[in-house]
Amino acid sequence: MPAMSALLEVRELDRWFGGFKAVDQVTFDVQEGEIAGLIGPNGAGKTTCFNCVAGFLKPSGGRVFFDGHEITGKPTHSVFHDGLVRTFQIPQEIPTMTVLENLMLPGEGQLGERVWSNWLPPLPRRVRREEREREERAHGVLKTVGLDSHAHHSAGALSGGQRKLLELARALMSEPRMILLDEPAAGVNPTLLRRLVDYVLKIREEGVTFLIIEHNLDLVRELCDPVVLMAEGGVHAIGHPEEVLEDPDAQSIYLRRRLS
Ligand code: ADP
Ligand code: MG
Repeated sequence: MPAMSALLEVRELDRWFGGFKAVDQVTFDVQEGEIAGLIGPNGAGKTTCFNCVAGFLKPSGGRVFFDGHEITGKPTHSVFHDGLVRTFQIPQEIPTMTVLENLMLPGEGQLGERVWSNWLPPLPRRVRREEREREERAHGVLKTVGLDSHAHHSAGALSGGQRKLLELARALMSEPRMILLDEPAAGVNPTLLRRLVDYVLKIREEGVTFLIIEHNLDLVRELCDPVVLMAEGGVHAIGHPEEVLEDPDAQSIYLRRRLS
């Protein structure tokens, strides 16, 4: 019987920056429907891994498969069209626009398409319909992440935590199959954090798979399984959160970094 392939397969991924190897033979799987965690001290190579998977950086070696298709080195817009989106450690909203307008911005790679389709008749009616559908979707997405009452506020007026939710909302606009979240809990207050957990669980119920980079280990314990522990570019351990986090090695990896 052929083995079911994982939704995301990362195989022996390498990334060099000059003479420095930031990602070193990283291999792991994320199955459809999982909320996987990617943890490890600062500088472990987690964001670089994300960038290589989502097409923001070309890997120096190794392979990445999404839904059974190789996406190694594919550009972001192409990975995006396959249904894989990522958020940024630093939220990327445009502060002078409203929350709703931020969601109405074209997603990764859609701008080019829109520019071309603008040359093709019959345009106005189709574009208006698309805009209307996009706006409806934006309102739905804002409800999902509890920002609906902020739709017409300027994005610059949101708190740090709400900006993280807006990042998540932006990712949801493209109806992705998988979302890579880079430190969603950083700078988020405990009340909003509770809601973030609920939103991620609800979105997973709707069929979205997650890979989450996170330093808040309570959140990782609560949300993530499996957990991939990276250290110095490599994968140090993979498993259930309690196995990985209670391992004395994992604790010393974190401690070593904190003391250094
Ligand atoms: P993490 O997200 O786990 O904190 P990063 O992936 O951001 O780690 O970084 C891993 C290592 O690679 C760090 O030592 C960082 O300084 C280095 N690095 C990341 N991006 C670049 C870059 N564009 N050029 C050179 N070095 C980089
Ligand atoms: Mg990082």
